[in-house]
Amino acid sequence: VSLRPTVYRPQALWIDGQLVAGAALAVDLQGRVVAEVPPGAEEVPLPGKALLPGLVNGHSHAFQRALRGRTEYVETGHAADDFWSWREQMYRVAESLRPDEVFALSRQTFMEMALAGVTAVGEFHYLHHGPEGQRYEDPLELAKAVIAAAREVGLRICLLRVGYARAGFNVAPNPRQARFLDPSPHDFLDAALSLAEAMTADPLVSVGLAPHSIRAVPREWLEILAREQNGLAARGLAARATSVAEGNWSSARRGSVAPILHMHVSEQPGEIDACLAEHGKRPVAYLDSLGLLGSHFTAVHAVHLEAEEISALGRSGATVCACPSTERNLGDGIVPADLLTEAGVPLCLGSDSHAQIDLLDEARQLEGHLRLQKLRRAVLDPGTGSPDGLAARLLHSATRAGSASLGLPGGSLRPGEPADFFTVDLEHPSVAGTASLVAAGALGAIVFGAEKAAIRDVVVQGRWVVRAGRHPRQDEIVRAHVQVMRRLFA
Ligand SMILES: [Zn+2]
Repeated sequence: VSLRPTVYRPQALWIDGQLVAGAALAVDLQGRVVAEVPPGAEEVPLPGKALLPGLVNGHSHAFQRALRGRTEYVETGHAADDFWSWREQMYRVAESLRPDEVFALSRQTFMEMALAGVTAVGEFHYLHHGPEGQRYEDPLELAKAVIAAAREVGLRICLLRVGYARAGFNVAPNPRQARFLDPSPHDFLDAALSLAEAMTADPLVSVGLAPHSIRAVPREWLEILAREQNGLAARGLAARATSVAEGNWSSARRGSVAPILHMHVSEQPGEIDACLAEHGKRPVAYLDSLGLLGSHFTAVHAVHLEAEEISALGRSGATVCACPSTERNLGDGIVPADLLTEAGVPLCLGSDSHAQIDLLDEARQLEGHLRLQKLRRAVLDPGTGSPDGLAARLLHSATRAGSASLGLPGGSLRPGEPADFFTVDLEHPSVAGTASLVAAGALGAIVFGAEKAAIRDVVVQGRWVVRAGRHPRQDEIVRAHVQVMRRLFA
């Protein structure tokens, strides 16, 4: 499909946090937003629709979609269900998946994201090897399968290549983690770099680094990452033949790893106890002491924080990626989004385990969970008195804050940015009569009220991914997914 310059004419266009009636979005041949309508541009009228920047899913484990609805009970022999018993069920699925099944599950997950208005995903990928830990002939096979799934659906993807070393501090190895493990930090970094090198042809694919968690990665690995941080800057690890302990990296490499680090931090109270026992510090204080925090760093979850940890995150410029539906589903707790916002910490959002995939709902539950906790309304309202102020702040978390966290362009639909966007049907029953007036409160109606079915079109880098509420390969993708589910559970 050859691209033409295009001008989209929605009923309302999101510009700088507001819906503006009658404005148009011009896009050039490369799929970038431009200030002036290019000559010969194709006219795309979008009557009755609002056009908003594409949603960014900052934290995903695509294969975990297979567990949706299957873990909502207490297993016989258990007194209760919690994060750790859920994790054992998740491992049971993870240990048997074949590469083609990882592809099929991922494709389903990414298609669901696209149908929910997502245009970019950060895939926190830790399934690397065969079931007993044996290397595939192409050791990057599973990462490539996940990337191929996202690209076939049409999403932009940042593959956060996970480093995983151990079951935990003073914890015996868990054979169920064999697929995740790298023998050394060098192997971890080398795999990320090789993957980046293999993906250079596709500008919609990038690779970032993700030490899994304090539990799964020893101090030595994090020290090496902190030391190599400058080399992770945009010019890439490749630019420096690095000095990683065992490493002997070829300087001929072209791939570059995005200068970002994502890590699970303080999701469960048990992690804090383990960190105190091993390092004598709470998780954020420990990461701070290693020099790991900074504007390139995203702490995923960051649920259980003390005041000094919140200040340290704020001082460092780090982002927090909240995953409200998963944090609720797993009984993790509530991200202190109010205190983090006060400390200047940007918040982005992820659907993580995919108990549900609805980024607008993640945005509204970032706020909703705080209301239940504090017995107050509009906790994250910026206090401008605008009926759309809170909605704009939450939408910023679901868009620009997510792309910044993943080192991706976009999120604002400003000239020069990629044309990654979605449209909302303003006549859909869930928003009709409020959003359709395109006046004050319209953005609030969308962020707080729009159902997924109101999301009609999705465009990534100027290319249609979803049109009129459907993905062109929807039936085939669902069929392949159902087949995997049958093999796993029937
Ligand atoms: Zn996660």
